[in-house]
Amino acid sequence: MIEPSHYLSETVKGLKPSGIRKFFDLAASMEGVISLGVGEPDFVTPWAVREASILSLEQGHTSYTANAGLLELREVISDYLLKVSKQSYNPKEEILVTVGASQALDVALRAIVNPGDEVIVIEPSFVSYASLVSLAGGTPISLQTEGDMEFKLQPKELEKVITDKTKAIILCSPSNPTGTVLDKEELEGIAEIIEKHDLLVISDEIYAELTYDRDYTSFVSIEGMRERTILVSGFSKGFAMTGWRLGYIAAQPEFLGAMLKIHQYSMMCAPTMAQYAAIEAMKNGQEDVYFMKKSYRQRRNLFVNALNEMGLTCHVPGGAFYVFPSIKATNLTSEEFAEQLLIEEKVAVVPGNVFGDSGEGYIRCSYASSLEQLQEALKRMQRFIEKRV
Ligand code: PLP
Repeated sequence: MIEPSHYLSETVKGLKPSGIRKFFDLAASMEGVISLGVGEPDFVTPWAVREASILSLEQGHTSYTANAGLLELREVISDYLLKVSKQSYNPKEEILVTVGASQALDVALRAIVNPGDEVIVIEPSFVSYASLVSLAGGTPISLQTEGDMEFKLQPKELEKVITDKTKAIILCSPSNPTGTVLDKEELEGIAEIIEKHDLLVISDEIYAELTYDRDYTSFVSIEGMRERTILVSGFSKGFAMTGWRLGYIAAQPEFLGAMLKIHQYSMMCAPTMAQYAAIEAMKNGQEDVYFMKKSYRQRRNLFVNALNEMGLTCHVPGGAFYVFPSIKATNLTSEEFAEQLLIEEKVAVVPGNVFGDSGEGYIRCSYASSLEQLQEALKRMQRFIEKRV
């Protein structure tokens, strides 16, 4: 008999399992649960997009594509980025199609991190960032943001954690889990520090399509930032395509070439039928995106108002489909709140502490559920709160 743990990588042994899973597993074992825990659209991928993929199969497009992805797809991504991010990327050498934004983040980090390099992760953050930094051989440095400031990164706080080992920071606007969107002036403040300390930025813009109150500002559109930024995005959220596993990276040729090397050895290429679907999504999917966005916005307004009224205070999140209310009035920890709410009222939310220390005292609720489900969840939450405050 061998002892498997003796053979495992120390880095992998040191990774914490995602805190979100624990609650999903518990919720899945119960009946009648309303889940506000999942981070994905409740829409099915628009029909025309699915049809484009079916057609590609009918036509027999079942082989590998170019490592970087179908050139036609890279061309439509380039056109799209010009509109959304206000920057022009050469489809032949500055765009890479990946297996979701998840793989994009992984190759981006592996391409730039040397052992011992520090990468700043702004918390509360998407659960993968710190672990991906560790897997790339780097050291994740957590930088906490504050609920009172809508969890916005403050440039002077950023400067405090920069050392001579800092290689990069990971930005995410609109943010998972807080829904916070940074505007142009705020991004400019961050860019100043990035430039001053000669850092790189991985800008995770997966929720770019889902901003509700003002036009989206991409970090690469801030003066001087395009050359130092690896832009990560994808189709999962805005186009309701989580299961297709398709994302992309835009970056200057030398960064892209390095990431392409990793991608070609570890992945070969992204799934071919998904790439055909994505061409349709980007070429003709804008109306569907607009329709979904309008619906999220309506649900956000309803949900945020109701939470604030019942004493779970939260700022109005400008993007994504998450609300991150404070539960401090209940005197429960985030984990206690989530567990008791699930057991007593069968509503699943994610405890804020799984996204970093500054998430303690908060919960993440996704409002990508039907209006009826949201209303029922709110009723149950109200009942839960009344017993405690
Ligand atoms: N980045 C953020 C901030 C996310 O919230 C997610 C998914 O939840 C991802 C990346 C991964 O997206 P994908 O489905 O494209 O891998």
